[in-house]
Amino acid sequence: MRDKYSVDDNGYYGKFGGAYVPEMLHHNISELQEKYLSITHSNKFKKDFSQLLKDYVGRPSPLFFANNLSQKYNAKIYLKREDLNHTGSHKINNTIGQILLAKELNKKRIIAETGAGQHGVATATVCALMDLECIVYMGAIDIERQAANVSRMKMLGAEVRPALSGSKTLKDATNEAIRDWINHPKDTHYIIGSVVGPHPYPDMVARFQSVISEEMQYQLEEQTGRNFPDFILACVGGGSNAAGAFFHFLENESVQFYLAEAAGKGIDSGHSAATSILGSEGIIHGAKTLLMQTDDGQIIEPYSISAGLDYPGIGPLHAHLIDQKRATVFPVTDTQALNSALMLTRTEGIIPALETAHAFSILDVMDVEPDSVVVVNVSGRGDKDLPTYKNHFNF
Ligand SMILES: *Cc1c(COP(=O)(O)O)cnc(C)c1O
Repeated sequence: MRDKYSVDDNGYYGKFGGAYVPEMLHHNISELQEKYLSITHSNKFKKDFSQLLKDYVGRPSPLFFANNLSQKYNAKIYLKREDLNHTGSHKINNTIGQILLAKELNKKRIIAETGAGQHGVATATVCALMDLECIVYMGAIDIERQAANVSRMKMLGAEVRPALSGSKTLKDATNEAIRDWINHPKDTHYIIGSVVGPHPYPDMVARFQSVISEEMQYQLEEQTGRNFPDFILACVGGGSNAAGAFFHFLENESVQFYLAEAAGKGIDSGHSAATSILGSEGIIHGAKTLLMQTDDGQIIEPYSISAGLDYPGIGPLHAHLIDQKRATVFPVTDTQALNSALMLTRTEGIIPALETAHAFSILDVMDVEPDSVVVVNVSGRGDKDLPTYKNHFNF
């Protein structure tokens, strides 16, 4: 029997997903579809992947019982510390997996898109490690607002190419990366940074990120005596940190999934990235999913203060989870996220990424019991966002 929430043989989660790609990419996508499972299930791959996650990334990431936060919100709150990974976010889990895959496929050139720059940094990092050429596409606006990560990528030896179309953010960088891949189909592997894109990317990225929930199971068992929580909270851009945190609990319906989506200046302000709330069915970057579009199918330019959530679509797995009411979405504004970032910093001494801060805002509105076990996935650290925090809070 097939699990309710895993991908089917054609790459669909319910009615979402699939692989809508131009002719020029058919070969690359078919190659990935045919090989990703056999390669990633081989003993050699599994050994190399887990070794690098352990010794290079620093896994397992801790599951921290946040005592102060627990008292403040009257629940048992645990933090899954992906911010402590090498390079500062969950993105490295996926890039390690994909670079090993690219090597198996004999690819010499790596391209990637990036929003906040965390995926670009994680990609540039594994390319330095494996000595492969690396080109990262990044929206011109994001190059400005995430300058620290641009410098990191350059120091790592990557070329950062600005995307100048549309809102000059993540969607536009993704368009440029796809265009590049169409022009260099033979020698290039495209490392997509989230659970988006044509099949098999959403499933492949979710599997690489699933190490998060795999560790959570035994860490919760050790600390609570039960290997699953009542709630998991995560922010959602494309949805990779959430997918990783949910993965091993997908079929356990007693675990509730709460997603924080970027509501920007407010859902009705015309300046948001609240994809699942404002979105409808359509095709973006090779997959059928929920996206923000006009009545005649033009993509609506998204907005969020957080570059990593500033995307008009959402991964097909999440579209399905939301459609099936397996996951609940909470819209979180820029202001709420900024306040949550300061709150977490002052309460637990942890400065989160702006993206991550959105997930903490859910704590202000959700209902919990004193013995509810809540895990918040701390997708990344806030170093890259210090200029924004400094401006906003005037310190
Ligand atoms: C990229 C990023 C996100 C958003 O991407 P997902 O694929 O939705 O996880 C969230 N948090 C951080 C720290 C990021 O770097």
